[in-house]
Amino acid sequence: MSNKKRDAKRVGQVRRLTALMVIAILLAVIAFAGFRCQKKLQDGTFSLLSSSSEAPPLVTNTATPDSSSSTSTETLAEATAAPTTEPPTEPPTDPPTEPPTEPDESWKLTLVNRWNKLPEGSSDISLVSLSNGNAVDARIYSDLQAMFDAARAQGLSPMVREGYRTHADQQAMMDEYINRYLAEGCTDEEARQKAESYVAIPGTSEHELGLAVDINSTTDDAWPLYNWLAANAHEYGFILRYPDGKTSITGIDYEPWHYRYVGKEAAVEIYARQITLEEYLQ
Ligand SMILES: [Zn+2]
Repeated sequence: MSNKKRDAKRVGQVRRLTALMVIAILLAVIAFAGFRCQKKLQDGTFSLLSSSSEAPPLVTNTATPDSSSSTSTETLAEATAAPTTEPPTEPPTDPPTEPPTEPDESWKLTLVNRWNKLPEGSSDISLVSLSNGNAVDARIYSDLQAMFDAARAQGLSPMVREGYRTHADQQAMMDEYINRYLAEGCTDEEARQKAESYVAIPGTSEHELGLAVDINSTTDDAWPLYNWLAANAHEYGFILRYPDGKTSITGIDYEPWHYRYVGKEAAVEIYARQITLEEYLQ
């Protein structure tokens, strides 16, 4: 008991000593800062501060064209620390020179078809690999996942059969078809024309954008899935890109599996108006 009391007393002494030391250090810091301020004022380096009848220093400093930036920032720092009798300086009232830049959303509406080739630099995208080896543009991944989750909640079994395709992939696919028709005895021109009726000409496939997916069902009957997608995909920013009866506009036959990401705003409008991306962009 007595030991504990002695300990408590010692702890109290140590605490008082520590508090005194802290106060002493604080006093020394304040005295030093005051000395520095005074010295700089006497030097005349910060003449703006010493003229009390002038406009508030902060405004003057930022508006003075010939004062170097380092000087003015230093002055501002000193101005707030100095024990001046002047009222607190007001912040500059000028609006920011540049408004905050909005993120560029134009990528969502890139038009690629047989009349509109892929824009330059569109292969410069960051991809996300899917579990089955396909890939899509990373920017559409979360909405694609949300759409698949919703479809699965309805007992459907969607899978991405085809996502991003490189230009080389697309060319290889085209070459494969052309060679197949050549082997069947077609002329070069016939083989090319036939192949192009099945395969998009390299540089004109949405799959090269990374924003298109061919969705298939892991079950035998894909139609319940196609019907669900046709009615719900727009809520996740996707559109049925090649609807029935729109071939003259899209250049591609009806493909109930090919979905294109355009963002929710555009997808909702395209769905409501039952139009194509080409018509939406007109
Ligand atoms: Zn496709």
